[in-house]
Amino acid sequence: MREFVKPRVVVSKCLEFDHCRYNGGMISSLIVAKLKEYVDFLPVCAEVEIGLGIPRSPVRIIIEKGEHRLIQPTSGKDVTEDMKVFCTDFLDLLVNVDGFILKFRSPSCGLKDVKVYSSVNKSGAIGKTSGYFGEAVLKRYPFLPIEDEGRLINARIKEHFLTKLFVFAAFRKVKSEGNIRDLIRFHTVNKYLLMAYSQAELRKMGAIVANKEKKSFYEMISDYERHFYNALTKPPRYTSSINVLMHAFGHFSENLSNGEKTLFFEWIQKYRERKTSLCPAINTIRSWIVRFEDQYLLHQTFFEPYPEGLLEVDLIAPNLIKDLWK
Ligand code: SF4
Repeated sequence: MREFVKPRVVVSKCLEFDHCRYNGGMISSLIVAKLKEYVDFLPVCAEVEIGLGIPRSPVRIIIEKGEHRLIQPTSGKDVTEDMKVFCTDFLDLLVNVDGFILKFRSPSCGLKDVKVYSSVNKSGAIGKTSGYFGEAVLKRYPFLPIEDEGRLINARIKEHFLTKLFVFAAFRKVKSEGNIRDLIRFHTVNKYLLMAYSQAELRKMGAIVANKEKKSFYEMISDYERHFYNALTKPPRYTSSINVLMHAFGHFSENLSNGEKTLFFEWIQKYRERKTSLCPAINTIRSWIVRFEDQYLLHQTFFEPYPEGLLEVDLIAPNLIKDLWK
């Protein structure tokens, strides 16, 4: 069993933490509830922080003189500037953060698909945008794992988010400890994971840790960080993950029976056809790692990118809501 660095995650407070919605409600989120065991959450409610109180009349984003404003229609209050100040102050004080989980479609927390209205009174939305806090987070931390709870019900989105979250937390620790040996070890144990994400970036990171120019840790880590962030921007392609599995399969193929090989290729085929997740094929390889005592693969994070307890939170098969994966 791997040991994981606990990620620090900012979360919309109304997701499983407090009855702070405009109507005094709280939202259930299976992923947030499950993650409480594995991450350090920093819950925050932007609307409460700017003094709107609980319960409160809802706010909405409108367009006024060509600009977005955050308005509370019942009171006529314009809280745009208060919200902007809160976002800047909160993010300025935030340190050691590894990711964000924000409330879907909220005019404050939403990352996208937040309704924009033409005025305080008109009911039909005329467009979509990001919420104020959600937008500020995306601008400040373009590389971090940032998702809304709505998208995290998709198994593939969740897998990418959690993988990124735990590897970013591990990288933060390496960065804070300032030791070249730790960086080399980090690179070594994440080699297959990085290979699945981007072979091109993996090669560049390999050259950085080889350190032929004898750079200091601080020069190395800043170069490495750039490529590391680039590598994890997008989820791995199906074919790249299969490529990594085939690499691992090569470690054992000579010692396997025909039946074992056939079963493994069946899992790969089902994954290729989006009929299953990567888990069955990974678990097959993991059983061989133990059986053949392959020490190199044993430490590869690709085979256990996040704690096993989080695997249970697969709510929707990847092929059922492809539209979310855009
Ligand atoms: S969505 Fe954000 S601002 Fe709205 S209640 Fe939840 S935490 Fe508060």
